[in-house]
Amino acid sequence: MTRKTLPEKGREWPELEAMMADMAKADVNWRAGRVPLYVFHAKDSVADINKRAFMTYFTENALGAGRAFHSVKRMEDDILDFALNLFHAPETAAGSMTTGGSESIFLAMKACRDWTRANRPGVTKPNVVASYSVHLAFEKAAHVMDIEMRRTPQADDFRADPKAMEAAIDDQTMMIVGSAPSFPQGVIDPIAELGELAQRHNNLWLHVDACVGGYFAPFARMAGYDIPDFDFAVPGVTSMSADLHKFGYTAKPASTVFYRDADKHQHQYFDFDNWPSGRMVTYGVTGTRPAGGVAAAWAVMHHLGVEGYVETARQVLELAREYREGISAIQGLRVYGKPHLSIVNYGSDTIDNGAIADAMTARDWLIGRTKEPMGMHLMLSNLHEQSKEAYLTDLAAAVEEVRGRNAPASSTEVAYA
Ligand SMILES: *Cc1c(COP(=O)(O)O)cnc(C)c1O
Repeated sequence: MTRKTLPEKGREWPELEAMMADMAKADVNWRAGRVPLYVFHAKDSVADINKRAFMTYFTENALGAGRAFHSVKRMEDDILDFALNLFHAPETAAGSMTTGGSESIFLAMKACRDWTRANRPGVTKPNVVASYSVHLAFEKAAHVMDIEMRRTPQADDFRADPKAMEAAIDDQTMMIVGSAPSFPQGVIDPIAELGELAQRHNNLWLHVDACVGGYFAPFARMAGYDIPDFDFAVPGVTSMSADLHKFGYTAKPASTVFYRDADKHQHQYFDFDNWPSGRMVTYGVTGTRPAGGVAAAWAVMHHLGVEGYVETARQVLELAREYREGISAIQGLRVYGKPHLSIVNYGSDTIDNGAIADAMTARDWLIGRTKEPMGMHLMLSNLHEQSKEAYLTDLAAAVEEVRGRNAPASSTEVAYA
């Protein structure tokens, strides 16, 4: 391995830009819709406004929003207000902006742990009960905070199984979790039932992970799609995470976390004074944080408005339907479960899924893979309109290529990131 040294002489932008363009040749072409996750697109004007707003606040630091950059604080407050209304939150509710779903989830778990310490002294070894499909950010947060995760098998329709979850609850359970929707199969867990479960167990803390659906499902419902209750409209819901940088179509990094009671939100804060530079009160994991993410979210939410989000939801849901139908029309393939939004998990019961995925990889697609059940995965937005025909054509060809072949099981690792 040759370790690189910092260049002796500096270079100007044109040369750097050319170097980057050269390096980017190694990337999968997301602009052409060949990446099934990580990137999201509503329409060109949204992309443009994201960039302009982000660059307008490129230098400001959201850590200083309270003391120096009052406009950043104001934009954050606007965004949180919009979301609280969208999620049917009562007057008592409060929340924060964060850098992503993982941070939102970490903070909800931290707030729950600290609230539990203060209010349920008998809980000394806290655990969290969730479905097997829950996002692995919960496992990461649990690992960092030394909390036990108890994940129960999914029901046959891939949703969380409230009965199995109930059986896993004991007197050390601090939180139960539902997803709206889950990442693996894109189904919204039975949040109303989980709410009843939480209430039956002494108002146990129920967190809803709406990182994917938070800024999508409400507009899908307004567009006339059947979306079960998943937010604070369900009485037992205590807290929620919702990512702006997914189907809010805003620049990274931007997510939000909310609590039914401001009192519980307070347990999210870290307040410390014992060092030479004085007190620091932060509500997040990060210190310095890009104000660009806040400004871009604020601008995009104003640009799209309810009408724009509803229109986009309609387009993406229509596109998802076309993908599901196109996939189901290929003999041997089927869609797993009944996804509520634009995640599609599909595969074959008779043909080697890993080999199909390999054949798609050979056709220049970054193919999402799943292992339970074995299959393929898409999280669709308007980026994938242009690539739909090519994807379905290549998929049909890939299936034909593999069908009947006694292919050795693919050795490619199933990976999320
Ligand atoms: C993406 C995702 C997260 C984590 O969000 P990041 O912004 O990637 O940290 C959490 N939950 C679900 C369901 C997700 O899809």
